[in-house]
Amino acid sequence: MPQIIDGKAISDAIKEELKIKVEKLNKDGIKICLAVIQVGSDPASSVYVGNKKKACAYIGIDSLAYELPEETTQDELLKLIDELNAKADVNGILVQLPLPDHINEDAVIHAIDPAKDVDGFHPQSVGKLCIGQPGFVSCTPAGIIQLLKRSGITIEGKECVVIGRSNIVGKPMALLLLRENGTVTVTHSKTQNLKEVAKRADILIVAIGKPKMITREYVKEGAVVIDVGIHRNENNKLCGDVDYNDVATICSAITPVPGGVGPMTIAMLMYNCVEAGISR
Ligand code: NDP
Repeated sequence: MPQIIDGKAISDAIKEELKIKVEKLNKDGIKICLAVIQVGSDPASSVYVGNKKKACAYIGIDSLAYELPEETTQDELLKLIDELNAKADVNGILVQLPLPDHINEDAVIHAIDPAKDVDGFHPQSVGKLCIGQPGFVSCTPAGIIQLLKRSGITIEGKECVVIGRSNIVGKPMALLLLRENGTVTVTHSKTQNLKEVAKRADILIVAIGKPKMITREYVKEGAVVIDVGIHRNENNKLCGDVDYNDVATICSAITPVPGGVGPMTIAMLMYNCVEAGISR
């Protein structure tokens, strides 16, 4: 049986640590406030936004919710971001993605003050990560580093293979593993011989957005497997990019879906909000 990496327990532990930190900050007169903007009423986005608000309330972070109609123009959204950038009592600004098609996501991400970029998507945050300076890091990959470290898994010197190169998961994941002294390979849809490349990994991070694509044929015996994917299967149950039951027979540790990477994303968002409050 592999080690099951318990993202729920680890994210709960991080939230407890943050709660204590925020109580202390409040006593010192420092309040932390996150502004969350949602445009339209996509049901999945509403669930994510609701969970973020709940986590803020639990930790003691104030949250301001802006629920804007689907037909909000890009200019109106940028104006709101400008206003929030200027508000001294707002430490973090989060715009829930995806946005409606008529709004350019890049323009919106660029508009957020990098000092309030708690999602870590602003080019300045990404650039800092790239050159090894402190800054906000995209929450899902930052959470995966915490999952590995808090499960006693060493990254230094390990062969790490990341499947997927998106700006929010794959690329920052590769940079973070490199920062931890892993030997990193990034793969994508044009990679040749993906199975052979993936099989080199001591630590395999899977973020492809294809339900259960990764079977034991892609996994070296004893590897650690981190599954970022989230999908609903034909029975409306959650599953990942990894065929869990198949891969669990060969790996040494694995994240389940649900209860693996998912809960870490919100915990690390809360971490970034607290950091934003401390460093203002
Ligand atoms: P994207 O669709 O943005 O990126 C997918 C990546 O996988 C691309 O780089 C793509 O390559 C690569 N890819 C697609 N098909 C293949 C293939 N057959 N072989 C090799 N590589 C392939 O997805 P995200 O990174 O945003 O998300 C990935 C998954 O993680 C999704 O299921 C998403 O729902 C989930 N997710 C979960 C989060 C959480 O909190 N748990 C947070 C964010 C995402 P190319 O670049 O060549 O197109």
